[in-house]
Amino acid sequence: MSNWEETRRLVLERDGYQCVSCSTKLSSTGADVHHLLPRSMGGSDELTNLVTLCDGCHAAHHPNLAGASRAGFPCGQSLAANRSR
Ligand SMILES: [Zn+2]
Ligand SMILES: [Zn+2]
Repeated sequence: MSNWEETRRLVLERDGYQCVSCSTKLSSTGADVHHLLPRSMGGSDELTNLVTLCDGCHAAHHPNLAGASRAGFPCGQSLAANRSR
């Protein structure tokens, strides 16, 4: 199926490589992609469910991940976990 790297790039391009919350310009490696509806709640990896956020805004959406959330990490899943799908 679609791989996360590709999906992520499409989201960043759609949003113009800037945070949809604070409009900060982001690099492709510094941007986070956030799920509007968390995957744990049945959210999909479709573009309509994904938005570009900077690290700070993304952390604000995930109080539990503050500090652990690194730039470039997909929302609610690790790159390793994604690879195993
Ligand atoms: Zn932001
Ligand atoms: Zn997120």
